[in-house]
This record gives sequence, structure tokens and C-alpha cells, in this order.
Amino acid sequence: MADCIFCGIANHEIPSDTAYEDDKIICFHDLEPQAPVHVLVVPKKHIACLDDLKEEDRGLIADIMLKIPEIAADLGLENGYRVVINNGEDAFQTVKHLHFHILGKRKMTWPPG
Ligand code: 5GP
Ligand code: ZN
Repeated sequence: MADCIFCGIANHEIPSDTAYEDDKIICFHDLEPQAPVHVLVVPKKHIACLDDLKEEDRGLIADIMLKIPEIAADLGLENGYRVVINNGEDAFQTVKHLHFHILGKRKMTWPPG
């Protein structure tokens, strides 16, 4: 989709520090990391948010969920990690292309922390 940063990264039009990539998924390091390890797992297909998921996306989402532990292991997150989806306005989703944050290498506190 035009003017979408994460589509641009998925298409290699915008550079990123890529941690993992296949034909359906790209994972890259966040520009403003909130933890010592902070990557974003992004479907290459433009899906704005969870509310836009379609039945046909079931396999894609399953692939992402199964890939996350593999990516976490590759990043050395054997002590655990947090997976976050900021979905919609109240969650402060800033990039309107569905993405899964993986945060690790620091102790997470549950809100309000
Ligand atoms: P959201 O707030 O939408 O859940 O998270 C968007 C994330 O994307 C933020 O953590 C932000 O730092 C990251 N981000 C925004 N633009 C870019 C970019 O151009 N490159 C990378 N690597 N991360 C970005
Ligand atoms: Zn997009």
C-alpha cells in the first residue's frame, strides 16, 4: 500500500535492520527500541490492524505465531520475552500495518508498572 512505512520495508524500498525474512513475513529491529532487544514481526501483506483480519489470513497469523518463538530463540531471548500488539487509537498504534512487537533482555512489568 502506498505511503505505508512497513509495506516500504517489506518491499525493500525502505531500509531496515532485518532479523528474519521469508516470503510472507519480515522481522526487523525497531528504530526506537524500548528494550535491549526490540524487533517487529510484520506480515508482508498490508493488513491495517486486527480488526481487518479476514478468514483467509488464518494461516498467515498462525505462521507468525509459530515463527515468533524461533525468532526469539535466534535473538537469544531464552529467559523470556513480551509480545505486544498495539491495536487502534486507544492502544497508540502509530503504524497502521499490523505488527507484533517482541521485547526482551529486560524485566517487564505489567501495567501500570
Ligand atoms: P506501534 O506504536 O504502531 O505499535 O509501533 C510502531 C513501531 O514502529 C514503533 O515502535 C516505532 O519505533 C517503529 N517504527 C516506526 N517507523 C519505523 C521505521 O521506519 N523503521 C523501523 N525499524 N521502525 C519504525
Ligand atoms: Zn502496509
